[in-house]
Amino acid sequence: SRRIVLAARPEGAVQLSNFRTEEVELPPVQDGQFLVGGNFLSLDPYMRGRMDDRKSYAAPVPVGGVMEGEIIGTVLESRHPGYSVGEKVAGRLGWQSHAITDGAGMVKLDDRFKPLSTAVGVLGMPGLTAYSGLLTLGKPKPGETVVVAAATGPVGSLVGQIAKIYGARAVGIAGGPEKCAYALEELGFDAMIDHRSPTFAQELAAACPNGIDVYFELVGGAILQAVLPLLNNFARVPVCGLIAQYDGAPSEGVDNLPAAMRIVLSRSVMMRGFIVGEYWDQRPKFLDEVSQWIAEGKVKFREDIVQGLDNAPEAFMGMLKGKNFGKMVVAID
Ligand code: NDP
Repeated sequence: SRRIVLAARPEGAVQLSNFRTEEVELPPVQDGQFLVGGNFLSLDPYMRGRMDDRKSYAAPVPVGGVMEGEIIGTVLESRHPGYSVGEKVAGRLGWQSHAITDGAGMVKLDDRFKPLSTAVGVLGMPGLTAYSGLLTLGKPKPGETVVVAAATGPVGSLVGQIAKIYGARAVGIAGGPEKCAYALEELGFDAMIDHRSPTFAQELAAACPNGIDVYFELVGGAILQAVLPLLNNFARVPVCGLIAQYDGAPSEGVDNLPAAMRIVLSRSVMMRGFIVGEYWDQRPKFLDEVSQWIAEGKVKFREDIVQGLDNAPEAFMGMLKGKNFGKMVVAID
C-alpha cells in the first residue's frame, strides 16, 4: 500500500516537506475485516487543523502517522459478513491506496452516487454541512439575503443553491472573475463579489441593499470584517469555517472584537459555531432531498479532480490558497 504520512508539523504555511510518501506491506485480512482499494481521496480544509498539535474538536495526526481523510473505494477482499468483493464504500481510511478495516464508520455507496466522487462532495460531508448548517441554524426565509464566501466550493455552492430553493437572495464571494462568472451563470447566485477586488467591502455593501439576514461563515478575516456592518436585526451567522486563519497567520488586520460584539448585541445577532458531526442524523433526509434536487437540475456541482495520490500534498496546499475550482478530489491510481 502507498500512503502519505505527516513528516513534520508545519510552522506557518504548509510545505511539501511536511509530507512523506511511504510504501508498506499490509498484513493478511483477518476474520471480521475487509480490504479496500482506494478510488478517490477527498481533500478538505479541516485537514490543515489536524496537522497542528493544538486543542481542537478532534485529535491531531501524530508525526509519522497517516494523514487523515475520507476515501471512496472498492472492497477487494473480504472476511466480513456484511461486505462482499466489488462493493463500493466510503470512510475515513486516510491518505492511502489500500487499507484494511473492520467496517467501523464505513458507509456503502448505492447508485445514487453518480459519479462516485459525489460521495465526498455534494452528497458527502461538505454537502451535509451546507444543508444542515443552513437549514437548522441559518433558516433562510423568502426575500431574505444570504451571503456565503468560497462560493464555488462544495459547501458554499450548496449553501447558495439551497438559499435560492428557499426563496432567498444568494450573494456569493469568490476569488477571481472565472469563479464569479461560473457561480452567476451555472449556480444561479444573484450577485457575486471577487474578494480580491480593492473595493471589495463597498461592492459587497452595494450587492446587499437590504442588508444581510444570513451570513454562512466559511472564511473569516477580511470577509467577516466587511459583512459585520451589513448584518440586519436578528441576522443568523452559522460559523462553519475560518479558512483564512488555517494556514499560517491566525488573523489579519486590527482586532475589532469589541466592535463586533457591539453589533451582535445591538442587532440581536445569533452566531453559532457547529461541526457537521452534530447533524449526522440528518444524513438520510439530506441524501433524499439533495439527490432529488440534482435530478431536477436545481442543484449543480463541480469537482476538481487531480490524478495520482502522490499529487495530494500539492493539491491540498493549492486548495488552502483557492487554486481549486470545485470540490477537491484525488483520483488514486
Ligand atoms: P473549498 O473547496 O471551498 O476550498 C476552500 C476555498 O476557500 C478556496 O477555494 C478559496 O476559494 C477560499 N479561500 C481560501 N482562503 C481564503 C481567504 N483568505 N479569503 C477568502 N477565501 C479564501 O472548501 P470546502 O467547501 O470544503 O470548505 C469551505 C469551508 O467550510 C472551510 O472553512 C471548511 O473548513 C469549512 N467546513 C466546515 C465543516 C464543519 O463541520 N464545520 C465541514 C466542512 C467544511 P476562493 O478562490 O473563492 O477564494
